[in-house]
Parts: sequence; C-alpha cells; structure tokens
Amino acid sequence: VLPPIYAITPTYSRPVQKAELTRLANTFRQVARLHWVLVEDAARRSELVSRFVARAGLPCTHLHVPTPRRYKRPGLPRATEQRNAGLAWVRQRHQYLPPPPQPGVLFFADDDNTYSLELFEEMRTTRRVSVWPVGLVGGRRYERPIVENGKVIGWYTGWRADRPFAVDMAGFAVSLQVILSNPKAVFKRRGSQPGMQESDFLKQITTVEELEPKANNCTKVLVWHTRTEKVNLGNEPKYHLDTVKIEV
Ligand code: UDP
Ligand code: MN
Repeated sequence: VLPPIYAITPTYSRPVQKAELTRLANTFRQVARLHWVLVEDAARRSELVSRFVARAGLPCTHLHVPTPRRYKRPGLPRATEQRNAGLAWVRQRHQYLPPPPQPGVLFFADDDNTYSLELFEEMRTTRRVSVWPVGLVGGRRYERPIVENGKVIGWYTGWRADRPFAVDMAGFAVSLQVILSNPKAVFKRRGSQPGMQESDFLKQITTVEELEPKANNCTKVLVWHTRTEKVNLGNEPKYHLDTVKIEV
C-alpha cells in the first residue's frame, strides 16, 4: 500500500475562504491516501468549515487554534500555531502504534497555493526530507534548490540567500519517521522572522547535505505560490439586504 500523505493546511475566515478550500479539496480528492489536516485559525470550529469538511469527499481532520492577537500583525509570520497543531495531531495519532516504523509523508499546504497532482507522486517517496522548486515566489518566476550529483548544494533565490534552507513552505516534505523521531521540532515564534520559518524548522530535523531533491533534480515546477486577490465588497448593501441568507 502507498504511504499516507498528511497535508497540513492552516486556514482563516475571509470572503475567499470557501473558494480556496473548494479548489484545494478538488485537488486533494484526486490523491490516493491523502489525509487532510485542516487547522482553522479561530477560537472554535466555524460552521462554514465544518459543513465544508463533511462534504469534502476525502479523509479530513478538522482542528482549530486561534493565533494570539499580539501575533496578528503585518511583518510577523503567519499560521505558526496552526501548523504546530497539525504536527501535534499527527504525532499523537502515531505515537501508540507499534514498530515497525509507520510509513508516511507530511507537508504543509497553504490554502491559496496551486498544487499539481505530480507533486504528490514526487513527495510520496520521501525518505527523510525532500525538496523541489516553487513557482511564483520570492519575487521571481520560481525558486529552486540547486542540485549537483544528486545533492543540494545551494539555492536559486531572489530573497535572503543567506537562509540555511532558502525554501518556501510549499517546497518541502518530511517523512513521518523524521517527524516522530524529532518530537520537539516545531515552528517557533520567538526569534523567528517571516521567511525564516521554513529554515528554522528544517534545521531542527535535517541538514542541507541530507535533502532529497525531487522533480527531476529540482528542475520542474509542480507547485505555485499563487495568491488570491482581495475581493471588492464595496457594493455590499447596508440595507435592502437579500431575503435569504447565503453562505459564500
Ligand atoms: N493564515 C492563517 N491565519 C492568518 C493568515 C494566514 O491561518 O491570519 C493561513 C492562510 O490561510 C494560508 C497560510 O496561513 O494557508 C499562509 O498565509 P498567506 O497565504 O496569507 O501567506 P503568504 O501567501 O503571504 O505566504
Ligand atoms: Mn499564500
């Protein structure tokens, strides 16, 4: 059987949320043995996401944890607490299972990115930590790990090339083994600048030498850091509201 893939997705309430989740579910539904860990940035599970998850048509775990208000500021990293909640859930689910080691792969899937189905074939064979290019990120058409003789030797990036792992959240996957054998590895708030989250996390669990290049030695873009335009709600009525209440 195929090793399961855990996709950890932080998500928050906003006008485009259901549209983003619909797009994501339509992709994930086509991936065998994918388990979606959807973590709401909220004090409770919302009705919208609860209803959505019930009809999503794929294995799904619905968690929630609010980002403390002091961290909801521009310039601070997003979704730290939600990704950690996803990690904790996966660790808990597997901690009581007996050896031999459970196969599995975990990756962090923001709700607004675009994922090709080929990406999942690539990450499925992750032994420890795998990496690949990400499109439309870092002020460039793409960023990618530079590979020589099958090893990552550097990073093609337009932004903070001094990062030890100059890779976006969408650019790596971790085996369940590595997640379980490094139980303290988490995303950190303290001392973490935005854009350093990935590096700070990866340096807790691996080294650059150990990375496994995917996507034809990191020469193919299979995931895009797309961002959705803020919707114009300038014509929402203040009175003469619609006669029915509609979820969007
Ligand atoms: N996110 C969240 N709470 C927030 C802002 C973002 O949970 O207050 C989630 C969002 O839904 C996405 C991820 O965190 O899955 C990354 O956020 P975003 O896409 O806005 O970041 P960027 O595209 O700028 O890296
Ligand atoms: Mn995004």
